[in-house]
Amino acid sequence: MAKVLIIAEHAHGQLNPSTARSVTCASAMEGAQIDIAVFAADAAAVATQAAALQGVSQVLTVNHPANAEPLAAVLAPQVASLAKDYSHVLAPSTTFGKDLLPRVAALLGVGQLSDIMAVESLSRFRRPVYAGNAIITVEAPRDRTLVATVRIASFQAAEAGGNAMIEAVALDVPLPAHTRLVDRTAVRSDRPDLQTATRVVSGGRALASAENFSLIRSLADKLGAAIGASRAAVDAGYVPSDLQVGQTGKIIAPELYVAVGISGAIQHLTGIKDAGTIVAINKDPDAPIFEVADIGLVGDLFAILPELESTLAAA
Ligand SMILES: Cc1cc2nc3c(=O)[nH]c(=O)nc-3n(C[C@H](O)[C@H](O)[C@H](O)COP(=O)(O)OP(=O)(O)OC[C@H]3O[C@@H](n4cnc5c(N)ncnc54)[C@H](O)[C@@H]3O)c2cc1C
Repeated sequence: MAKVLIIAEHAHGQLNPSTARSVTCASAMEGAQIDIAVFAADAAAVATQAAALQGVSQVLTVNHPANAEPLAAVLAPQVASLAKDYSHVLAPSTTFGKDLLPRVAALLGVGQLSDIMAVESLSRFRRPVYAGNAIITVEAPRDRTLVATVRIASFQAAEAGGNAMIEAVALDVPLPAHTRLVDRTAVRSDRPDLQTATRVVSGGRALASAENFSLIRSLADKLGAAIGASRAAVDAGYVPSDLQVGQTGKIIAPELYVAVGISGAIQHLTGIKDAGTIVAINKDPDAPIFEVADIGLVGDLFAILPELESTLAAA
């Protein structure tokens, strides 16, 4: 029987929704037992949230002062030690998972499978290549632990309603002392997180300045949406790089995506392949974004956005 261990991503006592999406991926592996490991200084609150996910059998908590911060170098040997009882080790394909799992794979002496987007069997998976322009089917060796990241945009979050057991685990693993957190600079925002938001409003080069991006912020506020941007907007310094959507930015799957002044380059579209309804505002009727848009507004964004906002305010 397959035994799947999912490494929980969390911060400030909150389980990241990417973990619930990884559970849905694991649930597609027929007959698999799904456990979640929570590494923290005090894992209790996160473990309770993880145990409530449907499909989870057991939550393992590894409490240790060194686990207060999710440092890949510190977590990897602990995950590798837990992995000996499992056939599969999964983590979301977020910065957290992409940082951690290659180290785990190296410690276990296996290769890492990246970006699972569909499960065909316990050893066959589909994943995107060439910036999402092609999908390949990968057959993993069955006689070794499979270490893999999950493309979270491809899976819905597992629902709450489960009641898994929570068990504290003490690991006898030497932890490296060469890596420690010195400082963390994080942008504090009350807006939804770009990667997990159900609505996203993104701006492109056409915004023409950082100041004009306030038009995007204002519409996002009205819609309760997260903010995104094209790479051209990021490179021009209108917004920070953590807002970039696309091949070299975030891969997202909101229910509503509003692309404002974005041409629809293939590298941008890669990031919104799994979006629900796509609305595009662009003054060029031949812009490629209209090929993927469900609703297209042709015109000057500086005229359309204020109009759209006043319509929303009146609604
Ligand atoms: C290896 C690689 C990786 C990349 N990764 C990414 C990535 O992750 N994300 C990403 O976004 N890009 C990525 N790019 C860049 C990508 O190829 C495009 O250059 C970029 O997406 C273009 O951004 P844009 O649509 O904002 O700008 P443009 O392509 O310049 O488009 C601006 C659009 O705004 C419209 N417009 C102009 N004025 C107005 C107005 N007043 N009102 C309405 N519409 C207007 C124009 O008609 C045009 O369609 C990558 C490129 C490479 C080579």
